[in-house]
Amino acid sequence: MRILLVEDDASLGATVQSWLQMDGHAVDWLQRGDQAVTALATHDYQCVLLDRGLPGLDGDGVLHALRARGATLPVLLITARDTLADRVEGLDLGADDYLVKPFDLEELSARVRAALRREARQPSPVLRHGGVTLDPVAKRVALEGVPVTVTAREFAVLEALMRRPTHILSRAQIEEALYGWGEEVESNAIEVHIYNLRRKLGSGFITTVRNQGYGLAPA
Ligand code: CA
Repeated sequence: MRILLVEDDASLGATVQSWLQMDGHAVDWLQRGDQAVTALATHDYQCVLLDRGLPGLDGDGVLHALRARGATLPVLLITARDTLADRVEGLDLGADDYLVKPFDLEELSARVRAALRREARQPSPVLRHGGVTLDPVAKRVALEGVPVTVTAREFAVLEALMRRPTHILSRAQIEEALYGWGEEVESNAIEVHIYNLRRKLGSGFITTVRNQGYGLAPA
């Protein structure tokens, strides 16, 4: 999933970015609040990790701007402030969750997964469609209960499709879910991943909608 990280602390930002990339997410990292507002208006993110103390525009201002235009994507505030009043204020501004520095990276991953589940209105952490199950925590895929080996990119493509099982995703939307800024997108990459997933999960599981993109066959 594509995540926007807004954190002006260079060392923490780099750590969180590479951690979430290892978790299989595409992560764009910005250090200024005003740049975050622009990025959020022009890209499709599934989650935002937002530091509160930022140059340009503080995290509360970014959050306010985001909610003011009706965007509902989950926002996790990252903060060093930890009084009850601070937490209440952040949640009332429209944050979904809260991480107090210093935080554990495993906990960060779990909170991101929880936010993505809520966003997709999926109470269970394991995604199911047809005979296919995808476990975002264990990074496992199975077909009719039998484990299927997939690459990290194939997993990410399948996850993007299974999180929105009734949507048609364009190639650009799938690329957005897979690649952060500055990452090289090989031409035909998405087609190759789809081809491999069909080979592994059955040719009918992923459908092609002409001139629109890819979707899942009705379960
Ligand atoms: Ca800061």
